Amino acid sequence: MSVITIDTRATWDAQDVTDLVAAAIPDDAGNTLLLSTPHTTVALVVAPADEPMLRDFIRLAKRWPADLGPFEHWLEDNPNAEAHIQSAAFGTRLLVSQEEGSLVLGTYQRIVLLEFDGPRTRTIDVRGVT
Ligand code: ZN
Repeated sequence: MSVITIDTRATWDAQDVTDLVAAAIPDDAGNTLLLSTPHTTVALVVAPADEPMLRDFIRLAKRWPADLGPFEHWLEDNPNAEAHIQSAAFGTRLLVSQEEGSLVLGTYQRIVLLEFDGPRTRTIDVRGVT
């Protein structure tokens, strides 16, 4: 297993991590990779990663689900209920194919880390599925 470390830059952030993931493919991995992040306030998605699209993810995260509050998690002095909901909804794990050390992705597909409660240091585990 390999571990990638990413420093997110703001409360909400979206970073293209495709090249970092490709560089971290374990030598002994098979053709299927499991990418997972052990945090409860980030997500991993496959999406276009042009700057306007990344800003659109951030704009969405600022609005949804904030307007559905108040949230009970807030009552225990935890202000990040929205971030947990976003993380759970988008997901913290991806299965991605690889061939000979290259990720198998569509033309516009990139692997994007979404941050909902930053800035923080985040990690992504990259491991082969056997
Ligand atoms: Zn919390």
